[in-house]
Amino acid sequence: MTPLAPGAKIGILGGGQLGRMIALAAARLGFGVHVFAPEEAPPAAIAAKHYRASYQDEAALKRFAEGVDLITYEMEHLPTDSLRDLAESALFRPSLRSLETARHRLREKEFLSALGIPTAPFFALGAGRLDAGRDIPRSFRFPAIVKNCLGGYDGRGQRVARDRGEIVGALSDLGEGEALIEERVSFRREISVLAARGADGDFRAYDVVENCHRDGILRESRVPARIGLAVAARAKRWTRRIAETLDHIGVLGVEFFLCDGDSDSDGEGALFVNEIAPRVHNSGHWTMDACAVGQFEQHLRAIAGWPLAEPVRFADVRMVNLLGDDVESWRDFAARRGVCLHLYGKEPARAGRKMGHMTALYPLSSGGSGGSGGSLGGRGG
Ligand code: ATP
Ligand code: MG
Repeated sequence: MTPLAPGAKIGILGGGQLGRMIALAAARLGFGVHVFAPEEAPPAAIAAKHYRASYQDEAALKRFAEGVDLITYEMEHLPTDSLRDLAESALFRPSLRSLETARHRLREKEFLSALGIPTAPFFALGAGRLDAGRDIPRSFRFPAIVKNCLGGYDGRGQRVARDRGEIVGALSDLGEGEALIEERVSFRREISVLAARGADGDFRAYDVVENCHRDGILRESRVPARIGLAVAARAKRWTRRIAETLDHIGVLGVEFFLCDGDSDSDGEGALFVNEIAPRVHNSGHWTMDACAVGQFEQHLRAIAGWPLAEPVRFADVRMVNLLGDDVESWRDFAARRGVCLHLYGKEPARAGRKMGHMTALYPLSSGGSGGSGGSLGGRGG
């Protein structure tokens, strides 16, 4: 494909903060941006044009597609059926295959298993909900987590089942739709890899990120992650295998659990994939401030057929999400030295809602990818 020239228009499906930051990066590269989102004034509506319609509205989607040169998306909770025509008639990146695989937890886990990439042991909970879980093998260990296959984010659509007897109750809490149950992993660290694959197959990964979630919501990310070099290399290798198998074009994020155990010969622990995000990801926000290229620009480079940039990191970082009324302290954050503040223009500041984030920068402690040293302990943000 000939690369999209500046001046071309990029359409973004989804109006959240990820779309907003894609739009900002697109503007910097000289692209025009159109956003498709059902909300009245979504964060991404800083773009030249906002198409306000439902994601099911195929006529509106068609009009949107006609006005742009390329379509991408900032979230995976999209009705893929109504996007099929769009994906066939327009340049649609990452492909529907990436989207369909990652948005559905069961399909995602089966995809990983087929690749030989370990996940937490899981079991599909089919339609017969009243006797759900009866067929779960004895070897399956509780406590476990019942998860909806579609639509979950920030830990929503999940319930803990302490034993077999709690599965039916968890399912009725979660409502209709397909679900699965997976063992609750006792992990030592949560990490993620952000990477991009270009239209020519070039692959570039950022340094591995260490994440801290509370109540299912990402609170904090830090780089370098406190992990060994072999684990970092393994996580990047698996991310590459995922991207290549999907023929993914664009940025993707892969979340992992790192557990004690000697299942891998390097002795650095056992790694499991939690989930795949076929898009830019919250745990990659620090790249904008600490790297030669941020994830949003890298995503645009990939989908527009530009060469990928080298994702070199210039600083150690700690990225903190501002949830709910955290954002009211924006004056304090703005006054901190070495802190980059990003606000999403959202209202109202409901509890747990992602309102912004800040990235604290520190001198680089290790140059190599996924360095093992460099604890950031004691360095307040
Ligand atoms: P996201 O906002 O990343 O899309 P999500 O709603 O898709 O989140 P998950 O990533 O499945 O949810 O879970 C959110 C968090 O809950 C995880 O990052 C992890 O901290 C915890 N968690 C989820 N599944 C498990 C598990 N099987 N074992 C242990 N902890 C888990
Ligand atoms: Mg997650």
